[in-house]
Amino acid sequence: MKKDIHPKYHEDAQIVCVCGAIHKIGSTQKEIHVEICSACHPFYTGKEKLVDTAGRVDRFKKQQELQKKTSAVRKGKADKKKRAAVRKTEKEKAKIKAEIESNK
Ligand SMILES: [Zn+2]
Repeated sequence: MKKDIHPKYHEDAQIVCVCGAIHKIGSTQKEIHVEICSACHPFYTGKEKLVDTAGRVDRFKKQQELQKKTSAVRKGKADKKKRAAVRKTEKEKAKIKAEIESNK
């Protein structure tokens, strides 16, 4: 090994996970902190567990709630179509009326 270019190697380094597990490894860093490890990751445990470090699940739930609220207020496409049809017939009636008036 070339001298003075290699960082210090810790034979007894630790990886500390937020789940409480401590893994002993060899590393150039004495202690490494991680959010997930083989003791708590669903891939290894086989249990389904949401890993939500960025708050994405919360955001998704909020969006769904908002969607529910707005859809409760909105009347929907069917209602919109009905109103459009009524408007159209009224317009046609007015047109016919105007034609009759002009023919008098
Ligand atoms: Zn862990």
